[in-house]
Amino acid sequence: MPTLPTHLFLNGRYADDLARRRTPLINPATEAVFTEVAAAEPADVETAVSAAQKAWESGWRDLSPGKRTEILFNVARKLREHIEELAQLEMLQIGKPIADARDEAGLGARVFEFYAGAITKFGGQTLPVSRGGFDFTLRQSMGVVAAIVPWNFPFPIACWKVAPALAAGNCVVLKPASLSPLTALKLGELAHAAGLPPGVLQVLPGSGAAVGDALVTHPRIRKVSFTGSTEVGRRIMELAARDLKRISLELGGKSPNIVFADADWQRAADSSPMSVFANTGQDCCARSRVFVERSIFEPFVERFVQATRALKVGDPAQEETQLGPLVSAGQRASVEEYLTDARQRGSRFACGGSRPLPKGWFLEPTVLLDVDKKDRCWREEIFGPVVALTPFDDEATLLQEVNDSPYGLSGSVWTQNLSRALRVARAVESGVLSINSHSSVHVEAPFGGFKQSGLGRDLGMAAMEGYTELKNVYVAE
Ligand code: NAP
Ligand code: MG
Repeated sequence: MPTLPTHLFLNGRYADDLARRRTPLINPATEAVFTEVAAAEPADVETAVSAAQKAWESGWRDLSPGKRTEILFNVARKLREHIEELAQLEMLQIGKPIADARDEAGLGARVFEFYAGAITKFGGQTLPVSRGGFDFTLRQSMGVVAAIVPWNFPFPIACWKVAPALAAGNCVVLKPASLSPLTALKLGELAHAAGLPPGVLQVLPGSGAAVGDALVTHPRIRKVSFTGSTEVGRRIMELAARDLKRISLELGGKSPNIVFADADWQRAADSSPMSVFANTGQDCCARSRVFVERSIFEPFVERFVQATRALKVGDPAQEETQLGPLVSAGQRASVEEYLTDARQRGSRFACGGSRPLPKGWFLEPTVLLDVDKKDRCWREEIFGPVVALTPFDDEATLLQEVNDSPYGLSGSVWTQNLSRALRVARAVESGVLSINSHSSVHVEAPFGGFKQSGLGRDLGMAAMEGYTELKNVYVAE
């Protein structure tokens, strides 16, 4: 087992925090407590924000772009050297299959590389203002930024908030989810070992209610970047309104997967189960509503179910495992409530629905048919391995049903007809869409939602803009 980071990370080192309450961490694959991590308190938020503010004013804000670039590249290199350790920590705390955990640790490093390179390519404009003279814009850092991240992709999501915020010249207080503090703490440790000055990144595990609220309402936090539930996102927006704090929110989804009869539908059917069941369905981009053109509905379902049955569910430490356990007993209970509702409402279970193993919070990938479009399973984000498939007849009704959702995060369209692909891609109300693919996340491209899936964007240059204030300077001739 790798060494477990169990203390708050403040001012460039692990804190002496033995007096703090500690949160037990449970391995979701075994249900065994394997360590306890210090839980920050509101007073720690004050310490962290003050130290971050000092680090910003006394150097990070004014560091030359070249030096900042060098430090962030060093952080990326350090993360790459520790991919295996990061992957093991992620697997232990949330039950993520080890191969996925390794990929995601690598993705975190790539995010730091992208933003290290972006620093010297990110600037303002000169503008030909009508009164003459000289006018230019500056992108300026904000100060201290809070990043509040969830437990489903703990390490990459932490990186894709921290890296652009630091690249833009801010200092960051990172609050991981209570279930997944280990890789966030390790990020703090490794980043400082790679040369990040003390205080530039603080890591505060602790409960959302206590630490989260204290961060969101802290007067010196200039921006809150959040990924998680729509419910908490709404609360953050309300609290942030008091002092007009900048926010970006990446929230839930109920994403469509649309398959037309002219598509390479066999390839779509083979690949679609992992577009919803990957990470055991705990994915805001999960394609949990599948719309299939009626003429191919029956053979598509058959092939989809066959591919689902072939998925390897089990011990996340095994290289070939594709689906680990759900993250917690509570998360599985919440998903099982949806399954009970589906049974009561008369939905058909094409496969799945049961617990495959006696120990660990496992649940079979579950394929539902005949789900009424008013049912909870159709309308709400389940955040577990459950999908509903439905036939459609014409494009107009399809689009109306696809967009009849409060969410709008991601989606896929499968067709060989280019004009149809482009027409549908434009009409679907979502921030991210893929054609003949299930890929949602690209480090270089903006990621985020329409409607109640959030506001603001992670990743790409859009994220970096979101961690700056835009200033216009006019110089008279
Ligand atoms: P959540 O409560 O929104 O948790 C996300 C993050 O917000 C965690 O770090 C959490 O800390 C923190 N938080 C909780 N209450 C807060 C508050 N009042 N102020 C500031 N931060 C706060 O999500 P969850 O309860 O873990 O999961 C519930 C559901 O949310 C899931 O079933 C799923 O539908 C959705 N979800 C979506 C995503 C996504 O990627 N969009 C990710 C996770 C969950 P604690 O862990 O300490 O509570
Ligand atoms: Mg919660």
